[in-house]
Amino acid sequence: MAFEIQKNVDLRDYNSFGVSQMAAYFAKIQDSADLRQAREFAASKRLSVLVLGQGSNTLFINNYPGLVLYMSNRGRAILPGAGMLRAAAGESWHELVIFCLQNSLYGIENLALIPGTVGAAPIQNIGAYGVELEQFFVELEAFDLKTGEIRHMSKADCQFAYRDSIFKQDPGLKLVVLSVTLQLCLEPKVELGYTGLADALVGQKVTPQSVFDAVCAIRSSKLPDPKLVGNAGSFFKNPLISRSKLAKLREAYPELPAWDTKDADLVKVPAAWLLDKKGWKGRQRGGAAVHGEHALVLVNRDNATGEDVVLLAQEMSSSILQAFGIALQSEVRII
Ligand SMILES: Cc1cc2nc3c(=O)[nH]c(=O)nc-3n(C[C@H](O)[C@H](O)[C@H](O)COP(=O)(O)OP(=O)(O)OC[C@H]3O[C@@H](n4cnc5c(N)ncnc54)[C@H](O)[C@@H]3O)c2cc1C
Repeated sequence: MAFEIQKNVDLRDYNSFGVSQMAAYFAKIQDSADLRQAREFAASKRLSVLVLGQGSNTLFINNYPGLVLYMSNRGRAILPGAGMLRAAAGESWHELVIFCLQNSLYGIENLALIPGTVGAAPIQNIGAYGVELEQFFVELEAFDLKTGEIRHMSKADCQFAYRDSIFKQDPGLKLVVLSVTLQLCLEPKVELGYTGLADALVGQKVTPQSVFDAVCAIRSSKLPDPKLVGNAGSFFKNPLISRSKLAKLREAYPELPAWDTKDADLVKVPAAWLLDKKGWKGRQRGGAAVHGEHALVLVNRDNATGEDVVLLAQEMSSSILQAFGIALQSEVRII
């Protein structure tokens, strides 16, 4: 399909909250040649550029005055060499997980059913059920909107951390991921550290396929399907706090859960627990609401605007700051 730039496009169908905001310019990107043309166009009109996958981690609170690049490049290839795989940025992440299982490439079953594209996966180092993308990441190919050059970035270059990477701040924001290369395992390798997952598999033969099935079943029972109810999964990151802060909080809340992190002085506490404690489940503000089953998930219950969602999120984080002295950070990118 020839490269085309559309004007005044409603983004409602391009974000999983299903909020309506207009992009002044919008282009589907099939390859690096499209990106070159998009870059020239944006420069000629002095437009800002926003890269979009499936919009499942993005909340629009304003019209976007620049050029939205909708990643539509496709392709998956098993590379010569044991268990290496490359996938184009516009591929569906969940379809890639299925493709790996079908080709006896193991390790990412725990990341099944995470909505969105392959290209967005490194941006926040997607993770679920005890597994993070970085464990299988080898390199990615990116187009630099600043220089127009193609760059190859190693794991070290990407600076992965918990729901974080170099792509979330300048100069990483100028990089458009074109493809991602992963190293999968040729022998079945399962990660059952997450209690709920191990429980779901009791009495069953543990295989990558049964782990995949269990993850899909747990997620479907807990998380609203964005096709039916607009949402972006967890709205907040799980906060990292010091061990001394945890000890202090546990004087008042002995049951407060916490997980170790790579940093011996820091623990991660579940934002959902904090929010649940303050009674946020099910509360509604304007068209936005907190999911009735999951305090971390904000939903578009009734024609919410992006502003409805953000105001609700702000109220939630203020209440957590006041009650626990913990500042929640948004996991969702707010535009
Ligand atoms: C129901 C639900 C459950 C979820 N569960 C999880 C979960 O368990 N774990 C988890 O980690 N996330 C989860 N998420 C969040 C989301 O699925 C991931 O963040 C996903 O990687 C977003 O993909 P996307 O293509 O929709 O990204 P988008 O929302 O389109 O973009 C997200 C960010 O990445 C940038 N970006 C996208 N593509 C590219 C590219 N090719 N190059 C450069 N930048 C790019 C965008 O500019 C934006 O900043 C969930 C979301 C939903 C709706």
